[in-house]
Amino acid sequence: MTRVTEEEGCVLRECVFCEIVSGELPADHVYEDDHTVAFMDINPATFGHLLVVPRTHVADVISAEPHDWLAVADTARRMAVWVAGGLKAHGVDLLQCNTDGTVGHQTVFHLHLHVLPRYEQDQLGAWWTQETTDPSEVTEAARQLVDYGRRAERR
Ligand code: AMP
Ligand code: ZN
Repeated sequence: MTRVTEEEGCVLRECVFCEIVSGELPADHVYEDDHTVAFMDINPATFGHLLVVPRTHVADVISAEPHDWLAVADTARRMAVWVAGGLKAHGVDLLQCNTDGTVGHQTVFHLHLHVLPRYEQDQLGAWWTQETTDPSEVTEAARQLVDYGRRAERR
């Protein structure tokens, strides 16, 4: 198994997507370029469900450098075109999960973006149910975000 050295703290650990990027672990590859690799998800949610990852190991979008994220987003856009044209999908959802381990859903801690082709008969449904809430809560969330953003970007 490949061992990946984390930049921070030099912790040694294994990463299944690094192994796919290096070719050590087989996968159904669809596309690759200098910065990203796209391959089929081993447990697809719909026909053609694939993943786009950066070649560089980074855990999630929060710790990613902008250029890694932009490269992943660019390849995902290309894959969206491919699944719409090549698989005749009627839609495509792009999903990217991050978690600190307490809530949320991320099982592989190498940044990846799901490209999910959508079909009339697929079982996925909507990603959330819309809820009405007190408009002041929405405004309060916006206030907290802007406040955080101003402080964080000043550093
Ligand atoms: P997430 O839950 O958002 O972290 O997604 C991780 C995804 O990686 C899941 O949809 C898994 O099915 C997929 N996955 C895990 N191991 C492999 C593998 N060896 N090859 C392809 N896909 C994988
Ligand atoms: Zn990795």
